[in-house]
Amino acid sequence: MSGTIEDFVKTLKEGSEPWLLLFDIDGTLVDTGGKGMAALQKTAVEVFGGDGPPLDLAGSTDLGILENLYVHFKIDATEEQTHRFFEAYHRHLEASLESNPADGRVLDGVIDLLEKLAQTENAQLGLLTGNTSLGAEIKLRHYGLGHHFTFGAYGSDRADRNLLGHIALERAFAMTGREFRSDQTLIIGDTPKDIGCAHAIGAKCLAVATGQFSAAQLEEAGADWVLGSLRDLTLG
Ligand SMILES: [Mg+2]
Repeated sequence: MSGTIEDFVKTLKEGSEPWLLLFDIDGTLVDTGGKGMAALQKTAVEVFGGDGPPLDLAGSTDLGILENLYVHFKIDATEEQTHRFFEAYHRHLEASLESNPADGRVLDGVIDLLEKLAQTENAQLGLLTGNTSLGAEIKLRHYGLGHHFTFGAYGSDRADRNLLGHIALERAFAMTGREFRSDQTLIIGDTPKDIGCAHAIGAKCLAVATGQFSAAQLEEAGADWVLGSLRDLTLG
């Protein structure tokens, strides 16, 4: 499938093949107003005793971020330590989101798009996110989007985001009984890392300039399609 985003929408609505649409969370569905970053920093202080290095969160997986913290603090990565870190992180994340619920928001066009996709027979929704599975659940529940997603591939599965695509396809099959090919898969995200992980499995990437990257930067990074926001994805 090639062509414009309008061609894709037409295929999705009128074509005979199902499509798997895998959504990133931060910068794509929601803007937490920095609550994720705040929770990670509080967790680093609680567990490692310091802030650590500046964190590059855009498109990073939570396991990848933790690996960097292990290196920075010269701490051996053990399953127990990882469990302890994420237990504290989930606690701080929940508290941080609840502390000032007016901060952060669902991004433009997201609610309408997800509702329309739920009515679109050919569209199967899933997540492909750097968040841990529980972190994703906490954020989506907080913003009232949790009911749209029943499976995904997460930043608690692998540190390398490029390995998450195949996991998402396996989970899509386990959940729906449909075997989606990578060329029937669209990854929707806001960073060059989303584009990279889509192309790592031969999937398409729709990039949205609602995070830290401009439309020009996302085009430069090789996105198949770029939109200013998901409001511009018109399903009719
Ligand atoms: Mg993102």
